[in-house]
Amino acid sequence: MPLCCRLCFGWDSSGGGGTTPIKADIVGSVSSTPPNSFTHNPLSGLNMVTVNLRATTVAAVLTVLADQTTATCPSRFSWENNVLTKAAVNSTNNAELFDFGPVEGTPASSNIIGGIPRPRCKTFPGDPLWPSNSVWNLLNLTLGGALIKTVPLAAPCYSDWPQYDAAQCEYVKTNWNRPQLHVEDPTSAMFPLWQGQTCMPLDHPSQIYDNCTLGGYASYSVAVTKVSQIQLALNFARATNIRLVVKNTGHDFADKSMGAGSLSVWTHKLKDIQYIPDYTCNGHSGPALKLGSGVETEEVYQAAEAHNVTVVGGECRTVGMAGGYIAGGGHSPMSSLVGMGADQVLSLDVVLPNGRFVTASQSSYPDLFWALRGGGGSTYGVVTSVTVKAYPQIPVSTLGFVFGTSSNVTADTFWAGVEAYTTYFDTFTAVGAYGYWLIVNIGPGQFFFSMNPLWGGNMTLAQFQPLIQPFLDDLANLGISIDPVWNEYPSLYQAHSGTFPPENVGGADNRAASRLFPKDNFINPTKRNETMAAVRYAVEAGGILIGYNIRAAPNSAVNQTNSVNPAWRETTGFFILAAAWPADASPAVIQAQSNILTNDWMARWRQVSPGAGSYLSEGDINEPNWQQSFYGSHYPRLLQLKKKYDPTGLFYAHTAVGSEDWEVEGQLPGLPTQNGRLCKKP
Ligand SMILES: Cc1cc2nc3c(=O)[nH]c(=O)nc-3n(C[C@H](O)[C@H](O)[C@H](O)COP(=O)(O)OP(=O)(O)OC[C@H]3O[C@@H](n4cnc5c(N)ncnc54)[C@H](O)[C@@H]3O)c2cc1C
Repeated sequence: MPLCCRLCFGWDSSGGGGTTPIKADIVGSVSSTPPNSFTHNPLSGLNMVTVNLRATTVAAVLTVLADQTTATCPSRFSWENNVLTKAAVNSTNNAELFDFGPVEGTPASSNIIGGIPRPRCKTFPGDPLWPSNSVWNLLNLTLGGALIKTVPLAAPCYSDWPQYDAAQCEYVKTNWNRPQLHVEDPTSAMFPLWQGQTCMPLDHPSQIYDNCTLGGYASYSVAVTKVSQIQLALNFARATNIRLVVKNTGHDFADKSMGAGSLSVWTHKLKDIQYIPDYTCNGHSGPALKLGSGVETEEVYQAAEAHNVTVVGGECRTVGMAGGYIAGGGHSPMSSLVGMGADQVLSLDVVLPNGRFVTASQSSYPDLFWALRGGGGSTYGVVTSVTVKAYPQIPVSTLGFVFGTSSNVTADTFWAGVEAYTTYFDTFTAVGAYGYWLIVNIGPGQFFFSMNPLWGGNMTLAQFQPLIQPFLDDLANLGISIDPVWNEYPSLYQAHSGTFPPENVGGADNRAASRLFPKDNFINPTKRNETMAAVRYAVEAGGILIGYNIRAAPNSAVNQTNSVNPAWRETTGFFILAAAWPADASPAVIQAQSNILTNDWMARWRQVSPGAGSYLSEGDINEPNWQQSFYGSHYPRLLQLKKKYDPTGLFYAHTAVGSEDWEVEGQLPGLPTQNGRLCKKP
């Protein structure tokens, strides 16, 4: 084969077309003067893809992207009918950049790029093969101006950034811990530790550099508003061998939505919500909601409230329901009643790694349908919308209270009170109740418990109070007095708004791990003692415990044959454990504390729950044997499907299916940031 491979991108002033050449020096700007020189390509042996950046080229792509209505059930959102076609690709002078990948299941040719084997590492900024500004401009024009060159959220704090702005810096600093700040930014996520802390707000206690650099943030982001843009972005990333990430809200505990040197697909603007009162397909007959993948939990709850229905969503108001939440399984105050978020899905629309846009349901791409409901985000494609079952509106009763060690309540009594609660885990969840609570160590031998709330789904207070009273009697018998706050609400939305506390994110002074304890750990007295000893050990040592009394209820009204971690089906106690350190701690201190979390505290939890698992969306970034913990017995099938749908490894996220083949270079042991080049392991 002659050395005529196609990996390099530059301006070709002699390119055909016969129309006025366009010069586009920065993203979004276009002029009619050709550039004086090529920006690259020095790599010998590789042929140039000529970027004939001419008006007709761009116009052709934009016009051929005509709306194509496809009969689906439910029908697609209007922006889902704006799709990229093979004809559109062929009509451009730059088909190499935007062409579709091989049909899924044909891996043979998939790792040949431009006639040569795909390089081991993704192309990185500064590499000779990194696209020139002209090429990024071409992409931007082709996307209709949706490309955003990344400016770190805290850049306004740094005088050497053009965005320097003291007032804006102050705003960012003040709101850094609010999820919404990061949700509304194209590339920011909520756990700066994994970004590399390379651009913290000035004077933030966790600021470790004097300057601001991109670190783990994507290089560019596409603010997608239609499917064709997602297809173009995926095809471009595959053709140029650039790392691809998908960002929705940035809630993932491991910042799986970011990556240095990447092109990010930002789904935040896909906000449509359609209520379908009489959905009748995919084995379901009744009300449903079709959700764009950018919608947040509270937006869905509000829409459901407006139509007098209930949907299964999480406790955090800003988590992306149809993005990472459902992809990871999705636990909910409703789960003890009707199952996981992923169990409620009737169909998903998704752009595959090869750029094709398909619907996954029990009758269309059933294997993908199985994998997308629990197998993790950023693995099998970009989901554009999800249709979920809706339930009638239900009453919700709640109970909030706190207790702690005091002159009357010793540490042993405190822990006896916590253990008393765990003896009811099975009883409570069996009838649909759910509990969200917190235990913190407030000093040597001193602890505090906060119930935020105990939740009775589909229960009036008259039904809820007698259910809970035996537990409150146990507390009273132990000498633990509480001041209970009971409430009854007419709907999930109102109960959710009235009880769940706001979230605090953005800190680099802690990290978390989790365990899905099987119900037997709380039913069997010996196991319960062992479990509580392991839990107490971790909290006494400084761990912060966020607990859920929850089950993934069996529900014959939905399709629960999906890839949700089987450990969820066994659990009644989902416990998140966080380790904290001073905000200005050195990497060595963080490494040491991190190590204690994973290899001491959590090791004890694993020991008392052998074979159980952890929740992939709220898990330990260093989870040992994560394939088993996060995916359980589903892992082999999930991996097989990963190879089928994404043979080139376009999608990568830390601990996502198939990620064991990859590594981010240049990391400190135990602190796996996204600030580095992504390479296949040798
Ligand atoms: C404060 C807080 C509260 C939480 N509460 C809950 C809860 O109550 N219940 C619960 O189950 N979880 C909860 N989570 C975890 C949450 O569900 C996960 O972090 C989830 O992955 C967030 O998804 P996202 O799309 O909002 O976030 P992102 O971080 O943007 O995305 C998460 C992952 O999904 C991928 N992804 C996002 N959108 C798409 C898409 N359209 N197509 C393909 N891949 C996509 C991303 O690439 C990334 O890998 C909480 C997290 C936080 C920080």
